[in-house]
Amino acid sequence: MKFYSTNNHSELFSFETAVMNGLAEDGGLYMPTEISTLEKDFIRDIEKYSFAEIAFHIAEKFIGNDIEPKILRSIINDAINFPAPLVPLRSPEYSVLELFHGTTLAFKDFGARFMARTMGHFVAGSNKELNILVATSGDTGSAVAYGFYDTPGINVSILYPKGKVSGIQEKQLTTLDKNITAIEIDGTFDDCQRLVKAAMTDIDLKEKNLSSANSINIARLIPQIFYYFEMYRQIPDKKKNNYISVPSGNLGNLTAGLIAKRMGLPITKFISSLNSNSVFAEYISSGEFIPRASIQTISNAMDVGNPSNLVRIAELYDNDINAIRSDIYSESFSDAKTKEAIAEIYKNNNYVIDPHGAVGYLGLRSFIEANEIKNYTGIILETAHPAKFKDVVEEAIGEEVTIPKRLAECLLKEKKAISLSSNYPDLKEHLLSK
Ligand SMILES: *Cc1c(COP(=O)(O)O)cnc(C)c1O
Repeated sequence: MKFYSTNNHSELFSFETAVMNGLAEDGGLYMPTEISTLEKDFIRDIEKYSFAEIAFHIAEKFIGNDIEPKILRSIINDAINFPAPLVPLRSPEYSVLELFHGTTLAFKDFGARFMARTMGHFVAGSNKELNILVATSGDTGSAVAYGFYDTPGINVSILYPKGKVSGIQEKQLTTLDKNITAIEIDGTFDDCQRLVKAAMTDIDLKEKNLSSANSINIARLIPQIFYYFEMYRQIPDKKKNNYISVPSGNLGNLTAGLIAKRMGLPITKFISSLNSNSVFAEYISSGEFIPRASIQTISNAMDVGNPSNLVRIAELYDNDINAIRSDIYSESFSDAKTKEAIAEIYKNNNYVIDPHGAVGYLGLRSFIEANEIKNYTGIILETAHPAKFKDVVEEAIGEEVTIPKRLAECLLKEKKAISLSSNYPDLKEHLLSK
């Protein structure tokens, strides 16, 4: 399978090039030249297969022989080593697809673990160490750090803004050893991003073989397709129409769902649920994309004012806004509504949802009620474990949230980080000294 850049349809790249570059040199995002439809039997008989088998079948369609099937299978078994259960609620009768059972309690573990193992495989074949630099405002950094932990031939430095990530997030970022280094920058998230960009384009650092584990990497998108099929496998009555609500920020999760549908997965409609960062909902209603600066909210992993995967969505639908509208509805919700939703879901179902999932709940409910839909399957993608947003959730439900063991363990470890200023020469000196 070949890949092209959204900025240039005529040049084709291998899977390896697309993965190792992350972003195309012309600034575009990589897309597969073809999205194959899965065999009808496979979808009809999907309940016969395990999550790993489903994942392999999908991955093969994109990766073909670029990775030997035996190796691809072991990458998948190792990366997708946690479940994605579909949990029914009572009132209303929605279901929650829990995507937070990985190491860092966020759905980003799917993408980060698969990307890390894929890059690890390509690095092993090249005899050249890779040094990855990542800027994070919280969630992405820990998923990437844990994803690459102990991968031979790859070192990861994570830059995060001092005092601007939550206590839990900081512990997750700073308590790994071996090939992971946390760098605390005396500055903002934007400073961290600027420093990473400066290092990447610095010719003095060329021999360091720097790379960024970018969130738009095609190797992060592909594994997100897997769990939409795993979701469908678990739907009890497959004859009903289904409505899938995706809490969205950079639109990677939604894009993966749209690709799953294009591969033949029967999904009636996607609801892209947003916090106050409403650029995508405005695009769906007006057809005009007007990016702006992001606003801080309690569902902060979705605080995105210029969602990068929009170009992939436009590409999938040949820029036909009406075709996009027939598959996707989008709406934005305030923090106040989000807190109310957390409380309401807890009261009616005894189920604790995180702020991102709560936005998903609001989007689904609004769409179902406005269209007076009856006899359907409604699913919310729950993208993070509520313990990651303990303070907000506890305030909304008036009770304590239990912290899963894998998180509690890292909270007990000691923070280890290198402190640097936000001046580029300091980072450069540090990288050259390694
Ligand atoms: C990253 C993230 C999102 C947004 O996902 P996109 O693919 O960027 O739209 C939603 N919820 C959580 C918890 C996240 O970490």
